[in-house]
Amino acid sequence: MSRGFYIGRFQPYHNGHQSVLESIAEEVDEIVIGVGSAQLSHEVDNPFTGGERVLMITRSLEKLTTPVYVIPIEDLQRNALWVSHVRSMTPPFDVIYSNNPLVVQLFAEAGCPVRSMEMYKRDTHSGTAIRRLILAGKPWEHLVPPAVVSVIREIDGVKRLLEIAQDD
Ligand code: ATP
Ligand code: MG
Repeated sequence: MSRGFYIGRFQPYHNGHQSVLESIAEEVDEIVIGVGSAQLSHEVDNPFTGGERVLMITRSLEKLTTPVYVIPIEDLQRNALWVSHVRSMTPPFDVIYSNNPLVVQLFAEAGCPVRSMEMYKRDTHSGTAIRRLILAGKPWEHLVPPAVVSVIREIDGVKRLLEIAQDD
């Protein structure tokens, strides 16, 4: 039984994440997904709550036959202890998938095997680019799984992002 770990902020979850997770599903028996900075929401760079992001991910991966555990993980603000913090919140895993240099460094130092994944259309598929499109009133729906469009609609997420971006 092998379990792989994947972590991100998923603000929002998009087709790049989906593509990576579909590949990971071919390599491991179970997938653990950490929703990072879980305590943050209602900020221009972190508009969605941990729970809303859990919903986006769980619904988008519903059809995957590989079991998935989605675990919110709050920030610790102490990088040297962060891997233990993550492990204290997650089902045990054997390998971590990440391209993020800090995440790779911290897990490698902790002796955990790290695998890198190929980026999927990174120029258009990033949380930052998608938040910018939403704020600009431009089309963004094609960059995320249909389930994410429906979650953002359900929580009135576009209106939230536009409102929190305003000055007082
Ligand atoms: P942001 O721009 O808000 O940082 P992001 O798109 O980088 O959003 P994160 O939640 O920060 O998304 O990243 C989670 C993980 O997904 C990271 O390891 C990141 O490298 C990876 N990732 C992000 N975009 C892609 C993509 N287009 N293809 C493959 N992996 C991606
Ligand atoms: Mg990122």
